[in-house]
Amino acid sequence: MGATDGRSGTAALPGMADVARTVTTSEFEGVTFHEVLCKSALNHVPAAASLPFTWTINPYRGCTHACTYCFARATHEYLEFDAGADFDSQIVVKTNVAAVLRRELRRASWKGETVALGTNTDPYQRAEGRYRLMPGIIGALADSRTPMSILTKGTLLQRDLPLLATAATMVPVSVSVSLALLDPELHATLEPGAPKPAARIALIRAVAAAGFDCHVMAAPIIPYLTDDIASLRALFAAVAEAGASGVTAFPLNLTGRYRGWFLAWLTRNHPALVRRYRTLYGSSGLVSPEYRAHLRARTEPLAEEFGLNGDPLADGPTALGGRYALAPEPRSRGATAAMLQGALF
Ligand code: SF4
Repeated sequence: MGATDGRSGTAALPGMADVARTVTTSEFEGVTFHEVLCKSALNHVPAAASLPFTWTINPYRGCTHACTYCFARATHEYLEFDAGADFDSQIVVKTNVAAVLRRELRRASWKGETVALGTNTDPYQRAEGRYRLMPGIIGALADSRTPMSILTKGTLLQRDLPLLATAATMVPVSVSVSLALLDPELHATLEPGAPKPAARIALIRAVAAAGFDCHVMAAPIIPYLTDDIASLRALFAAVAEAGASGVTAFPLNLTGRYRGWFLAWLTRNHPALVRRYRTLYGSSGLVSPEYRAHLRARTEPLAEEFGLNGDPLADGPTALGGRYALAPEPRSRGATAAMLQGALF
């Protein structure tokens, strides 16, 4: 750990226990960690969300991966932070999450349903290198015979692959990596804090080499920037070559409060596209059915060509889907983001 300027405090975050400590460190320039003692670790997902998991754990809130399109941004406003720069830099750390989880898993009422990690903020964001919360969570889930699924962009996952391999001898463990583009320049502005695409290809390779079916979330596909046939072909080819078993793709939605943050990025970086986005998304924040059909016509043949129709669902649920799929149309405006956001906290 780098030098730490730890300040004790008892300022409350809404819905959270008191902040035990606020930390800045030279290792994480511009980032403030708010260490909290959480009251619960498991979040119940409402049945209405129709997601392939019933419980989630979010050891962190906020995410230094800083993806401009991140739908979880709005959840930071519940903590009275903003959904823009604060989401990227004001990171809430549930330092006691593993101990609280063990207590919850001991309850007689616990049915051992699958627990998903990485469905809102990334459990292997850079903070995990400092706080090491995931080994305790994985151990608690495995010891209680609770299946788990993990979705991440974080190469830190590699550190825990041996632990996950051991857990997989006891319970179903599903591992998915999020990667929707290969262009390093686009990555640098669109998801500036996340590991580079090449590093995530290496992560997919490592996950597969550790014996897991590695599912890839190729999402979101960004209209007019990452949806051309050459980019999609390169992406599908690269993940297949790295050993991915399947792909789930879906286009960017702009249904939540992250819409303004993303559109500000678009205006700064690709002003010529702003008018086309207005036409494509209208007031609904969803791409048109014609666009979806157009994207499907590109991705389905690629999945077939590169053998990405594996069925990881056979051994357990993946984080947000299973075999290759162009995710279904949300049922109503904002439904997908709302379902997820409502599910996770
Ligand atoms: S890695 Fe996931 S949680 Fe983190 S900012 Fe990107 S989309 Fe959001």
